[in-house]
Amino acid sequence: PFEAAVILQSFMILMMATSLPLAALLLRNGRLALRLRLRNARMRENLLMLSMAEEIGRIGRWRYDPRTGFQDWSRQMYLVHGIDPSRRKSGESKDLLAMCGEELQAQLASHAKDRARYSFEYRMAPLHGEQRILKMYASNEFDAEGDLVSVFGVVMDVTEHHQRQEALDRERSRAMRLAAEAQYLAHTDPLTGLANRRRTITQLEKCIRRSQQGHRPLGVISFDIDHFKRVNDAHGHQVGDDVLVRIAEIARTQARASDLVGRMGGEEFIWLLPSASAHETSNAAERLRKAIERESGQGGLPPVTASVGYAMWHDDDRAGSLLARVDAALYSAKQAGRNTVQKAA
Ligand code: GH3
Ligand code: MG
Ligand code: MG
Repeated sequence: PFEAAVILQSFMILMMATSLPLAALLLRNGRLALRLRLRNARMRENLLMLSMAEEIGRIGRWRYDPRTGFQDWSRQMYLVHGIDPSRRKSGESKDLLAMCGEELQAQLASHAKDRARYSFEYRMAPLHGEQRILKMYASNEFDAEGDLVSVFGVVMDVTEHHQRQEALDRERSRAMRLAAEAQYLAHTDPLTGLANRRRTITQLEKCIRRSQQGHRPLGVISFDIDHFKRVNDAHGHQVGDDVLVRIAEIARTQARASDLVGRMGGEEFIWLLPSASAHETSNAAERLRKAIERESGQGGLPPVTASVGYAMWHDDDRAGSLLARVDAALYSAKQAGRNTVQKAA
C-alpha cells in the first residue's frame, strides 16, 4: 500500500505538472480565437462600409496585373463602365480593359513608369447609353527589379460634372458676349459704326492726358457735310443715311490705327490724331477733304463735299476748350465758302 500510495502520488504530481500548462495553453488559444473572431468581424464591417461608400459615391475600384493580364474589378467598376456585373464570373477579365476603349489603354501605357500617384480622364462609349467621361486615380507597384507588377485604381464618372461645367462655360461666354455687345452699343453710333459722341469725348480726354504725360502733340479735326439738308430733301432720308455711311468709311480709311473717328451727331464728325504734328494734322485735313470730294459720289450716291476745321492741343486745353476751338475753325471753313480747310486760332 505504501508503494501504491507513492505511485499514486507521483502520478498525481505528474498529472498536475502536465495539465496546468495544458490548461494555460488551452486558455490562451481560447483568447486568441476570440480575438481572431473579433478582428474578422471588424474586418467584415470595414469591407461592408467600404463597399457601401463605393456604392454611394459610385466609385469603381480595380487592380490589374500587367504580367498575367488578370484584373480584379469591384461591382461598381462594372456599373461605372456600363457593363453588366454578372459578367464577373464568366472569366473574361482579360477583355475588361479592352471593353473600356483604347483611350484608357493608351493612358495607362503612358503612365506605366509613373512612381507617383497619377490621374487622368478618359471617354468610353458603353454598349447601352451615351458616351461617359470617367476619371481615374491610380498608382503603380513595382518589384525589386523595377518591373511593374500591379496597377491599382479608382474610377469615377465625371460626365455630369463636365456637362455642368460646359453649361456654365457656355453661360459665362454668353454673358460676356452680351456685356461686350452692350458695351459696344453704348459706345457706337449704330448707323455708321463709328464711335458715338460720348466715346469720342472720353477718348479725347484720354488723348489729352497722354499728350500731357508724354509731351506729345495732339491734332483734332472736325468736319461737317456741306448742304446736307439738300441731299435729304432731294433724295430722301435713306439716301442721306447712305451718304453718312459713305463719309464715315472714307474718314476711317484716311485714319491711322491709333486714331479715332467719331460721329458727334447729325452730319458732323471728329477725327482725333494722337502724336500728329500741326503739319501732319493739316495734311490729314486736306487729304480728307479731297477724298470726300472725290469718293463720296461713287456707286451712284449724290456727291457731297465737307468743310473741315482743325486745331492743335495747347498745354492749357481741356476737352471742352479744344472742341470749341476746332468748332470755330469749322465755322470759319463754312464762312469761307465750304469744301475748304481752316486752322483754329
Ligand atoms: P451746312 O453746309 O451749313 O452744314 O448745311 P447743312 O444742310 O449740312 O446743315 P444743317 O445743319 O442745316 O442740316 C443738317 C441736316 O442733316 C439736317 C438733318 O435732317 C440732317 N441729318 C441729321 N442727322 C441725320 C441722319 O442721321 N440721317 C439723315 N439722313 N439726315 C440727317
Ligand atoms: Mg452740314
Ligand atoms: Mg451740321
